Amino acid sequence: MMTAYRPEPDRDSRQWWERVAGQEFAVQECEGCGAVRFPARSFCPECRTEAWHWREVEPEGVVESWIVNHQPFMPGFEVPYVVVMVRLAAVPGCFVYGNWRGDGPPERGWRVRAAYRRVDERLTLVDWAPDDHPVGRKSSR
Ligand SMILES: [Zn+2]
Repeated sequence: MMTAYRPEPDRDSRQWWERVAGQEFAVQECEGCGAVRFPARSFCPECRTEAWHWREVEPEGVVESWIVNHQPFMPGFEVPYVVVMVRLAAVPGCFVYGNWRGDGPPERGWRVRAAYRRVDERLTLVDWAPDDHPVGRKSSR
């Protein structure tokens, strides 16, 4: 099955995507106040300290909402597809978007876990699947 939601790494998120390619889900941890944050940005929104380091966390969360997208993201990709908004368990108040990988649409409040999907040389996506069906924990193939 093809997917469609394809974020573009930028200056702040490039390292995050590199870690995802190695199937590691990381958030930034401030060296000033210890606050964790996501997505990547260059300074802490709490204390404005610029020093930070990556901290690997469990790629788990809860479905907050989801949408059905009817716009093909790239030629050849199937539509419609479902994009979920996941409330990260590790970072209070932070959300991540990704392709849904379940049978049928999700429901708000479902526990989900990341399922890594290698798209090509340069990009691995973080899909989300129901936590009781860990389809992506070893390989997407
Ligand atoms: Zn801070």
